[in-house]
Amino acid sequence: MFDLATSKVHDEARQGEAYAPFENDPNVYTKRFYIESYGCQMNFSDSEIVASILAGEGFGATRNYEEADLILLNTCSIREKAEQTVRKRLTEFKKLKKQRPSTLIGVLGCMAERLKAKLLEEEKLVDIVVGPDAYRTLPGLIQEADGGHKAVNVLLSREETYADISPVRLNSNGITAFVSIMRGCNNMCSFCVVPFTRGRERSRDAHSIVKECRELFENGYKEVTLLGQNVDSYYWIPSNDSDHKTGSEGAVSFAMLLEMVALISPDLRVRFSTSHPKDITDDVLHTMAKYENICKYIHLPLQSGSTRVLQLMNRSYTREWYMARVDRIREILPDCGISSDIIAGFCTETEEDHQETLSLMSYAKYDMSYMFFYSERPGTLAQRRYKDDIPDEVKKRRLQEIVELQNKLSLESNLKDVGKTFKVLIESDSKRNDQDWMGRNSQNKVVVFPKGNKAHKPGDYVWVRVKECTQATLLGELI
Ligand code: SAM
Ligand code: SF4
Repeated sequence: MFDLATSKVHDEARQGEAYAPFENDPNVYTKRFYIESYGCQMNFSDSEIVASILAGEGFGATRNYEEADLILLNTCSIREKAEQTVRKRLTEFKKLKKQRPSTLIGVLGCMAERLKAKLLEEEKLVDIVVGPDAYRTLPGLIQEADGGHKAVNVLLSREETYADISPVRLNSNGITAFVSIMRGCNNMCSFCVVPFTRGRERSRDAHSIVKECRELFENGYKEVTLLGQNVDSYYWIPSNDSDHKTGSEGAVSFAMLLEMVALISPDLRVRFSTSHPKDITDDVLHTMAKYENICKYIHLPLQSGSTRVLQLMNRSYTREWYMARVDRIREILPDCGISSDIIAGFCTETEEDHQETLSLMSYAKYDMSYMFFYSERPGTLAQRRYKDDIPDEVKKRRLQEIVELQNKLSLESNLKDVGKTFKVLIESDSKRNDQDWMGRNSQNKVVVFPKGNKAHKPGDYVWVRVKECTQATLLGELI
C-alpha cells in the first residue's frame, strides 16, 4: 500500500532491512556485526561491499543486534523523512549501548556524508561516521573507536569504485543480484542531495563488472541489475596500455557494457537502473532489442511533466523531449515496460504544471512509478535559490492524484497482459501461498502462478499464461 504520510521510498519493503548471516559460510567468527540499510538500491549494494571488508577483519554478520559488537546503519538523505527514520532508529539502540558500552555504533552512507562530524555531536551514542567513498578505511576507524575515540572519515573520492572488492551477497535469494557499475552523479538536479553526498560521477572498470557478473552466473545467479544514478553516462576508459582494448579507443560506453554482460550467457538476464531521459541513447535501445536476455524494461524518471518546472529542477530536458524518448522506446522496443519517479509540489508548481504531469503520465502509460512529494534538502540548488512555497496539504493532494492515476495506469497495463504468455524467471515462493511460485517477466512485472506437480525451482525459466491480474500482479498458469 502507498502511505501518504511517509510517501513512497524505493523498495519500501526493504527499508531498514537487517542482513542474515552469510549463507554456507564455513568461517568461524569471533566478532559479529549487524547492518541495516535504508534508501536506494545503491546503499543495499554498498552494504555488501562493507560486509566483504568486515569479513576480512574477522567479523561475521548477525541478524540480532543485541549480540553484535558493531552496529551499522547505512543511511539515506534523499528526503527529510529518510533521515528522521534513521534518527529514530538510533534512539532504539540507547538501552543496549548503556548495558554494553563496548558495542560500537556506526553511521554509514549519505547521512554520514551530509552531516559529517556534526552527527557525532547530535547523536551522542554514535562512535563511527563513514561516507560512501571511505569504506576501505572502516577497519582503522573501528580500531580507533575501540580505543575510545570517535572516528570519522567522510572524504569523497574521484576514483573509488570498489572495483576489486567482491561483495558478500547477503540476504540473497541466490537468483538475482545488484552490481554497481558507477558511483556519484554530476547532474545537479536542483532538488537532489546525491551529488553532495556521493560525489563526482565515476565509472567502474568494465572488465571487473563483467568478471563479477560471470562469477555470479557461475554461482547459480540468473539475473543481474547494473546500478548507477545515471547509467547512460557510464563511460570507462582503460587507464594504461596493458588494459584490454574494447571499441576503437578501448573506451566502453553503456551500450557496449550492456552487450558485454549480455554475452556472458543467454540464460543470464540483464537489467539496469537508472536511465536519465536526457542521456538514454538509441544505441542502448538497439542493444536491448538485439539481445533477448536484456530485459525489456526501462526506469525513466520524469519528475515533472511541465517544461517550466523541469527547467527549475535542472533536468535538462523538456516535456516534448521526454515524449519523443517514450515514442522512440515504443518504436524500437514495442513490448518494453516503462516506469518513472515523480515529484509532486516542487517549488512554484501551479495547478497547470500539475495537470501537465498527470497528462504526461497518461501519455507514457507507466507500468509503475515511485511517487514523492517534494522535500527540501539543505545545501541543494533548490534550497538556495527557490522558496519551498507549495503548502503541505496541496503537495499531498497532488501526490494523491498522481498515485490514483498511476494505480489506474498499472491496472490498465496489467489487463492488457491477460491472455498473453510470458517467460518468467522463478524467484521464490509467493508471499501469500507457498503452493504458488513468484517470478518476474522481462518487463519486470510480478507473476504468480500455482506450482502444480512440476518439479521447478527458483532460478528456472518457465512459460506462464496470464489468466487474470490485480493492479500489482499478473496471475497465471504454467504451460
Ligand atoms: N538518479 C536517479 C534519477 O535521476 O532518476 C534517481 C535518484 S534519487 C535516489 C530517486 C528519486 O528520489 C528521484 O528520482 C526523485 O524522484 C526523488 N527525489 C530526489 N530528491 C528528492 C527530494 N528532495 N524530494 C522528493 N523526492 C526526491
Ligand atoms: Fe539526483 Fe538528478 Fe543525479 Fe538522479 S540524476 S541522482 S535526481 S542529481
